[in-house]
Amino acid sequence: MKLFIPAMAALAITASCASGGKTTEADEFDYTADRFADIEVLRYQVPAFEELTPQQRIFIYYLTEAALAGRDILWDQNGKYNLAIRDLIEGVYTSYNGDREDPNFKALETYLKQIEFANGIHHHYSMDKFKPGFTKEWLMGQEWVLKQGNLADIEVLLPVIFDPAVMPKRVNQAEGQDLILTSANNLYDGVNQAEVEAYFNALKDTTDITPVSWGLNTRVVKENGKVTEQVYKVGGLYTQAIERIVENLEKALPYAENDAQKDIVAKLIAYYRSGDLKDFDAYSIAWAEDTKSQVDFINGFIEDYGDPLGMTGAYESIVNFKNNEASHRTEVIAGNAAWFEANSPVDPRFRKDEVKGVSAKVITAAILSGDAYPATPIGINLPNSNWIRTAHGSKSVTLENITDAYDKAAHGNGFNEEFVIDEETAKLMDDYLFITDNLHTDLHECLGHASGRLLPGVDPGALKAHGSTLEEARADLFALYYLADPKLLELGLLDNPDAYKAEYYKYILNGLMTQLTRVEPGKDIEEAHMRNRQLIAKWVYEKGKADNVIELVKRDGKTFVKINDYGKMRQLIGQLLAEVQRIKSEGDYAAGAALVENYAVKVDPELHKEVLDRYAKLDIAPYKGFVNPSYTPVLDKDGNITDVTVTYGEDYLPQVLRYSRDYRTLPAFATGK
Ligand code: ZN
Repeated sequence: MKLFIPAMAALAITASCASGGKTTEADEFDYTADRFADIEVLRYQVPAFEELTPQQRIFIYYLTEAALAGRDILWDQNGKYNLAIRDLIEGVYTSYNGDREDPNFKALETYLKQIEFANGIHHHYSMDKFKPGFTKEWLMGQEWVLKQGNLADIEVLLPVIFDPAVMPKRVNQAEGQDLILTSANNLYDGVNQAEVEAYFNALKDTTDITPVSWGLNTRVVKENGKVTEQVYKVGGLYTQAIERIVENLEKALPYAENDAQKDIVAKLIAYYRSGDLKDFDAYSIAWAEDTKSQVDFINGFIEDYGDPLGMTGAYESIVNFKNNEASHRTEVIAGNAAWFEANSPVDPRFRKDEVKGVSAKVITAAILSGDAYPATPIGINLPNSNWIRTAHGSKSVTLENITDAYDKAAHGNGFNEEFVIDEETAKLMDDYLFITDNLHTDLHECLGHASGRLLPGVDPGALKAHGSTLEEARADLFALYYLADPKLLELGLLDNPDAYKAEYYKYILNGLMTQLTRVEPGKDIEEAHMRNRQLIAKWVYEKGKADNVIELVKRDGKTFVKINDYGKMRQLIGQLLAEVQRIKSEGDYAAGAALVENYAVKVDPELHKEVLDRYAKLDIAPYKGFVNPSYTPVLDKDGNITDVTVTYGEDYLPQVLRYSRDYRTLPAFATGK
């Protein structure tokens, strides 16, 4: 599973106070690499890379090489013409000698940037095919095309690029249609949905309590009239790419930190050689159980969002190492779980007698590849296999150098200036929003969801459709309540008793106003997290009216949130936490439904319009992704690797063009024409 910053989330608004330490100040590091169409490409830093040992850095280096070696696999999984189209567009772009202001050339450049971002010709999020802004005639007249001896291969591609009716959607999820035949991805060929389902149903043993993830690493095709699987493995489909992954994993092996890590790498190699899903499970178990190594990585066919049937894993790799300082934060919180539970404003009858915090680790990403590049998750929770999660545990990680980059890049995009009421508040957010935002997430995830208990006999599903909104509200309220507690200063997690005000202000601003940028005009709020945020913000606003706790003030026709009494606001948060916990513990559906219906769903159309208009003027890209840092081996006079250095200057297009050149492993039509 992965956690994404929702589309259009430019709502983190900071910052210079990094909890993980040692990131460069925003003004020294250029976080923005490119901006085109609906995309902004950012850079991220790898703080503390220099503090690793040379052995760890070399280990990371070979893992990054293994990560990039699989890049072409994802391109081909996403569509059988993708690699050939990439060759064509990159070829025309890089050999172009004409007027660079020509609208056709400019449109080609945008199209190239789009397909590189999506690892194919369909938008990474909407799954819709891109519409090129250049003409077929212009493309066919370009020097690179004219130099090709045989145009047949290019003519195959023209309808795929230009005809909106051909392969319109990469993954189709519309009910009532054959999801395989209507999806443009390349995970199936010559088979329909019913045939695939019948094939796997025949393989599945429903009594197996340790089932493998069927179809995870295969392309399902028909051979001689029979449905069969082409396995991604050495000697199988995509062997050229997989051999190069294995070669680099083998080079990494001697530099592993310990025997457990050696075993993980060896098991992954064994799986890439055999293609046997039992071998993948053995690897996943070893991986899930290794919580000691500082360097960690995933490499393989992992997430199944690209398959309308949710079976085949998209190639992905993330290499990372533990951020000890920030992980300390989640460990301290989890270690004090009992204190937090015992001191909450909740009726003691609804508290847990014994509470175990869930410890999550904070990591620093060193490379992103395949399905994690350039669009990147901010958190991952693996392995996906349910029985392995239950029997052997799972790892939940936050990529803090990625969230940090999101945060820094958002700084200066005009959002603060537009929506935050005064400089004093903006300054507070600059200084403390990054740390309090992270602490809010830690408290929410590590304690909030784990706190409280149901009274005996209460049905856990009693709150029905409102259950997830109220559950998210409960975890958020728990986090907000404790963010203002002196205990956090005592534990050394915050250094200023006013720091929490940064998160309080952002929370109310977002809940009452700015999250409306993600709701279409005329619509209600649907999504559970968004409902929860408005529920809390509106309830606190309404209940605090008598004491003038929070005001909405108008200036030059613009609405601003003004918080007059943060102390009273915290009391109200405690009060609502107690009530939401009571509703959950007693399974009081009527009271829960009333809270949601009265506070969480309806939108003031006038305020909504105002927020949308103000936001549109800022021209903030709805989707973001990242370029990777570059790693260079340090060699001794005999050419042996002794260390690795990291640099950050590379731009977006040069990077993807370099990857296409240096990590080209597959032929243009890897699975036929
Ligand atoms: Zn939650």
